[in-house]
This record gives sequence, C-alpha cells and structure tokens, in this order.
Amino acid sequence: MLTTVEATHAIGKAIVDFGSETVALDKAIGRVLHRPVHAERDQPPFDRVMMDGIAIRFADFDTGERNFPIQSRQQAGEPAHRLETGKCIEIMTGACVPQGADCIVPVERITVSDGAAGIEAGYSAERRQHIHARASDHTEGTQLLRPGTRIAPADVAIIASAGLPEVEVSRLPVIRVISTGNELVPAGKPIDAHQIRESNGPAVVAMLKQKGYVDCQHDHLVDDVEILERRIAEHLDAADVLVLSGGVSMGKADFVPQVLQKLGVEVVFHKISQRPGKPMWFGIGPQQQAVFALPGNPVSTLVCCRHYVIPALAKASGASPGNPVFAALAQDVAFRPILTCFLPTRLVSNAAGTLLALPVHPNTSGDFASLTGTDGYVELALEETFFETGTTVPLHRW
Ligand code: AMP
Ligand code: MG
Repeated sequence: MLTTVEATHAIGKAIVDFGSETVALDKAIGRVLHRPVHAERDQPPFDRVMMDGIAIRFADFDTGERNFPIQSRQQAGEPAHRLETGKCIEIMTGACVPQGADCIVPVERITVSDGAAGIEAGYSAERRQHIHARASDHTEGTQLLRPGTRIAPADVAIIASAGLPEVEVSRLPVIRVISTGNELVPAGKPIDAHQIRESNGPAVVAMLKQKGYVDCQHDHLVDDVEILERRIAEHLDAADVLVLSGGVSMGKADFVPQVLQKLGVEVVFHKISQRPGKPMWFGIGPQQQAVFALPGNPVSTLVCCRHYVIPALAKASGASPGNPVFAALAQDVAFRPILTCFLPTRLVSNAAGTLLALPVHPNTSGDFASLTGTDGYVELALEETFFETGTTVPLHRW
C-alpha cells in the first residue's frame, strides 16, 4: 500500500503529457500556456499622457508664463503634433506627448478663454509631470508570460497586448467518466427501494468541467464482466483519461481492476494508506491512457478526484505547480487509524489573518450531503493520531 505522497508521485511519473494545440485568444481562458509570450513593443510604446488637460513646454512655465494660446487639439490615437514655443496643445489621456512638450497640466487647473488656456494662480508644475514614460513598464522583447501559466483574465490582456490573436496551449484531454454499479439509477428515472441514485458520475463531470476539462462524457455500467470489458475497451479507444468510480474494493462484484488488466491497462498501484479512498486503483493503458479507478463511496470519489485526478491532469497539461496552502485547525481532531486522513472543512479567517479550518465530519464516506458548503479538505498526517487546535495542516480547496 502506497502513502498519499508516493501515490501522487507514481501518477506524476506515469502520466504522459497531453501535447499542445493552438487556440484563438477568446478560447484561451483557463488553458495552460505552452510557449512564452514576449512584449511586442515597449510598454507604454510612446511617452503617454496620463491626464486630460494641456501639454506645454516646462521651460515656458518656468519663465513665469501662465497663459498659453491653444495651438491644436490632439486626441488618443493621433500621431504627435509639434508644439510651438509659448503655446499649448489640448490633450487627452492616452495620447502621445506632443513633440517639444514635456509637461501636462490637468484640465481642472486651467481656464480657457479667447482661444488660450490660463493656468490657475499658485499652481506649481514639474518637468514631465503626468507623463507615463515610454518603456517604463517593460521593454520590447521582455518575457511577460512563462510556459506553464494557467491563463487568467490579466494574462489574456497580456497576450492581446503582445499582438497575438491565438496562442499555443496544452491540448485538452478527452476524458470518459464511468460509474459502475447495479444499484445505480440516474436522476429522472423511476427508482425502487433497493436502488440508489447515481451521483458520482455527475459530480465528477462537474468537478472536471469546473477545472476547465470540458471534454468529458459520462457512462454508467452494470457490474457484469462482459459488459464492463466491451464498454471500457470502447472508452479506452476514445479517451486520453478514464475516471471510473466503484467496483475497486474486495467485494464479489468488484470487477474493475481485473477487467482493466485484461484490457491491457497496467496497474501502477492499488490502495493508498488514506481515508477516505483507500481502495483507489491507478494504471496506464496500452496507448498511455491514464486510468483512475476511484472507490464508489461518494466522499471517497470526490476527494480522490480532487486529490489525484485534478493534479495529474494539470501536470500532463504542463501547468506549473501552485504553492502549497495551509490552515490552522479550529478544533481538536482525533483520528486513530494509521492512515492519512482527508477531512472536509469549511474555512474562516481570524483577525490575525490566519486561515482556520472548521472540520466537517462526514457520518461515513457515503455521507456526501455533509460536503455542502465545505471549501475543501485538510490533510492530517499518517503518523499522528491526535491533532490539537491550532495545528497547521495542508489544505486542499475543492
Ligand atoms: P463500491 O465502491 O462499488 O463498492 O461502492 C461503494 C458504495 O458507494 C456503495 O454503497 C455504492 O452504492 C456507492 N456508490 C458507488 N457508485 C456510486 C455512484 N456512482 N453514485 C452514488 N453512489 C455510489
Ligand atoms: Mg459497486
């Protein structure tokens, strides 16, 4: 049986990169960048006016002149006008600084009459005031985004500013989510007393989609070796990644590991020293498909999906790993078995800015209703059995 860290490591070593594709910028949000993005030009690309007002020569102001005949009006998007000595140009935010000008006086500080702008008495100006100097943010060719960046809205602005209408990102994997179990009936279908609602499939698909893995179809299979073999073979042919739930424990109808192995999926591990989710199985298919077979108990399924599947997909997408996050336990927790405990939690922060974890104890690993309102789960170390209030522990947000 592997530890949680060993299991993560084994998956990371075995899973293969999804490769890349080029997408239009309006499809790039949430995708993982595969190439660096460099500045197309200096930023700003010219000395840029930062206030609506007038552009003057500071030297004219410095000699005591306060009344400037208006020579012209220059808006953003116009080439720079040439300023004549002793005059001013009406100027707008975002325009380039007119040639010869080196001082912007805001519109609030002037009065216009008879075609001239008078600057208010007592106003003091400085050379180059309200001018955003060319290249003061960054210079042409500077690397602005690194490969591995998960593209956020600000990154979309950076890519657009670099003049790129499309961008190379990691290829989205084709994922098949497969629920197994004779007892399962989907929402919308009549159900008998001895049956239960199929909830893992929709939940796993939802989690994957929320993380941007939108190409995931769902199937439900009964616990029948022949049917499992035929249908899982089809899914293996179609997909980069399979996420199964159920049928991986020691029960007489837990056929998933044997079926997967028969289909040429090589087992990397079966069982992790954790609760929930101990029976998890992972293997690599004949075409390098990553096959996650998660235990069927709904809390186990969701925790295992978040803890192993999501990070593995990020790794195979070339995403740079995020920084670990920690929270302090808001209450004592005792956990006897020598297993890593994944404990669902709500989060609050105290006045000192510390993130506090308020554990929610599911009744059993089938008690998925207790997960509502939780922000994630904390990870309680394998070796310990008692965790005092205030103990700092790794936090994993959903
Ligand atoms: P299994 O891992 O197949 O032994 O399932 C363990 C428990 O989780 C059983 O009580 C199942 O009924 C339940 N379960 C398995 N799959 C699902 C599912 N897709 N949706 C809801 N509950 C499930
Ligand atoms: Mg089952």
